[in-house]
Amino acid sequence: MMKLTVVGCSGSISGPDSPASSYLLQAPHEDRIFSLLIDCGPGAMGALYRYMDPCEIDAIALSHLHPDHCLDLCGYYVAARYSPNAPWPRRPVYAPADAGSRLARAYEVTGNPREVSESGVSFAEHFDWHTWQPSQRIGPFIVRTVAVAHPVDAYGIRVEEDVPGGGAMVYSGDTGPSEDLLQLAGGVDLLLVESSFSRRARTIRQACIFQAPKLRQWDRPLESVR
Ligand SMILES: [Zn+2]
Repeated sequence: MMKLTVVGCSGSISGPDSPASSYLLQAPHEDRIFSLLIDCGPGAMGALYRYMDPCEIDAIALSHLHPDHCLDLCGYYVAARYSPNAPWPRRPVYAPADAGSRLARAYEVTGNPREVSESGVSFAEHFDWHTWQPSQRIGPFIVRTVAVAHPVDAYGIRVEEDVPGGGAMVYSGDTGPSEDLLQLAGGVDLLLVESSFSRRARTIRQACIFQAPKLRQWDRPLESVR
């Protein structure tokens, strides 16, 4: 059975009580627990230590490359290269195209690889970058994506545990109303829809929990996560 931990769900920026978007999804895999970190917004790295040693994260998934969903990967890199137990293993990152260069620009000050590579491995080199495909296997999970309605390349993510009776969840990421996301969410056990600013969200093209009742496939109670 897979387990979802909300590492952070503060909208757009980190909040006083929560990091920005970051979710930890874990399931048994080859006699141990496989850990997939979905998004890594500001503040996520510190909060992640509440639940596990981040060096044991097996794979990272990024819904899109807005800072509030990915920028703490810079903190992850610092920990991975300079922590007492560094270097951490090179992990796969599944993300929109060009994520490595975009996040390297966020990390590097001058763009001079020698300046930023005291550890011998640059930010871009530390990770194993994968551009999202419609379907891919990540450890015990079959992960499917669809492009959603957002000003940048952004994906809704469906994760299914590939065992008999395994669970399935969909994470919206940032999106406006998206028929493709509704299709992706068909039959899932959990639909994780990010929302911001309550009902005002409709005016700023953010996904809104109040859209969820419109899901034809979704007949379960709605709950808010804060
Ligand atoms: Zn966004």
